[in-house]
Amino acid sequence: MKIAFVSSEVSPFSKTGGLADVSGTLPATLASMGHEVLVITPLYASVDRQRHGLRQITGRGEIPGLGGTEVWEGGMDSKRGKVRVLFISAAAFDRPGLYQENGRDFPNNDERFSFFSRATLSLLKYLSFSPDIIHANDWQTALIPVYIKTVYLADEFFSKTGTVLSIHNLAYQGVFESNRWRALGLPDRLLSAEAMEFYGRVNFLKGGIVFSDILTTVSPRYAQEVQTRGGGCGLDGVLASRKNTLSGILNGIDYDEWNPGNEDKLFPPYTKDRMDGKILAKKLLREKFGLTASGPNVRVPLMGCVTRLDPQKGCDILLRALFRLLPKTDAQFVLLGSGGRELEAAFSNLARQFPGKVGAALKFDAQLAKLIYAGSDFFLMPSKYEPCGLGQMIAMSYGTVPVVRLTGGLADTVRPFNDKTLEGNGFGFESFTSESFISSIYRSFEVFRNPDRFSALQKNAMRERFTWERAAEGYLDRYAQAVHNRQKGGGEEMAVKAAEKSETVSMIYEIGESAGKVYQYLSKKAEGDSPAQISKSTGLESTMSAMAVGWLARENNVVVERQGKKIQVKLINR
Ligand code: ADP
Repeated sequence: MKIAFVSSEVSPFSKTGGLADVSGTLPATLASMGHEVLVITPLYASVDRQRHGLRQITGRGEIPGLGGTEVWEGGMDSKRGKVRVLFISAAAFDRPGLYQENGRDFPNNDERFSFFSRATLSLLKYLSFSPDIIHANDWQTALIPVYIKTVYLADEFFSKTGTVLSIHNLAYQGVFESNRWRALGLPDRLLSAEAMEFYGRVNFLKGGIVFSDILTTVSPRYAQEVQTRGGGCGLDGVLASRKNTLSGILNGIDYDEWNPGNEDKLFPPYTKDRMDGKILAKKLLREKFGLTASGPNVRVPLMGCVTRLDPQKGCDILLRALFRLLPKTDAQFVLLGSGGRELEAAFSNLARQFPGKVGAALKFDAQLAKLIYAGSDFFLMPSKYEPCGLGQMIAMSYGTVPVVRLTGGLADTVRPFNDKTLEGNGFGFESFTSESFISSIYRSFEVFRNPDRFSALQKNAMRERFTWERAAEGYLDRYAQAVHNRQKGGGEEMAVKAAEKSETVSMIYEIGESAGKVYQYLSKKAEGDSPAQISKSTGLESTMSAMAVGWLARENNVVVERQGKKIQVKLINR
């Protein structure tokens, strides 16, 4: 298959979360299975062009209609194969942060990512890369299926292209004020409740949900939860209406990377049949955090946690549970986490209250994370919701038993241990309360006290394999379905309605005095003129808006008419 994988972050080039890991691994896995994969992502100022050996492949402004955009090329080498990665470079991305600066979202994220989505489509055409599948991810690229089913509906080039949208975390939807609509380059009729309108604002993810041929989430359980009131973040209705196209595919982890058998500076390698390395890792971890309360050689349960400090991760019930449990047991706890200031302070306070029993490192530290995965007996993840979760899978690979809230991907990966059959790989609880969490922890301590049982449990955990190959098979199946849906026109209710009305679609721009200049700009179809000049001289609110209009014009054989102070842009289906 010919696959364009589009993502706003791709490890190792740019990363704020799990999306980057998926984007760094899934395309390479698909390529190793013989598919032709192209990854497209923005070129942020923080991407190290030299270190990654990136080279510029198109000159500034060479791609029609995209203003001062340049395209750079790099590759992702992996044991799984080489994948071509194209970077879209534009002024909008030329800042270090991906979405924010000093903890605040960029005010023009709507323009930045609608531009990125349009630029991707223009680039595919420019390269004559007509994909079987475009795989978009999260709100940042959710407009791609919308453009495909509206602006490009009559374009031969994408007529067979199926679209897949993966939701990695429904809490982030890309919601913006509706007065910024025109920056998106979309017909006005899409600003309706059936399409992208959301409580008077514009919702990018909703657009993607309505227009994609196939929808996925990163675990099967999460696919169910997002269709419920409690888990749908306001989009449960629209997701439920597309349930026939929606399914979950569990993320994988890289077992070459997360392997306790690897040589490592931190601790000696170990396997499920030779665990002395793990015992030493625990000793080192306790030393590192000064956990001396019970003497260095006493076998006490050590619980670890590596997490973003965010309410999503259940930090409040974690703190409450520990404050109640620690005075009553000899158990110990280490946390590595960064994020919210208040939560950082709360965990520092916990460490102060239980000297020698609790350690807290408030930072991001990949090495220390690995030592915690290896050196702990238990890994705590009491998440409020969890689209997939990697921590529990990594922990299991290191023989560290997960104690989790059974939600989302945690419910799909953790099977509670059964004393009689000795089956299961961890412990779990359902209700989001510190009491339920405490019961699970006590249950885990019971098994810990019986070394044979605990060893059986550890082995079960270490045998688990959540591989990317399995995930890739799942995606290929969904891709085939997306192509099929596209052919039969399924999942396109909105688009079909739109098409019926769209032999002429009008976009009215009230631009007053400057109408003539926009007219000129549109007639020239964006070549030559700088969008910055155009926005300045025409009163369009920003450069990005001018580019959106220009792009729309170019992609649609626009007919421009002057009508007094208004310009009507008619989109003609070819
Ligand atoms: P999310 O993507 O919601 O943060 P996941 O469990 O899917 O949660 O992935 C988190 C990943 O980030 C794991 O690989 C975890 O080890 C890593 N991680 C989280 N916080 C830290 C930290 N403070 N230091 C090092 N690694 C961290």
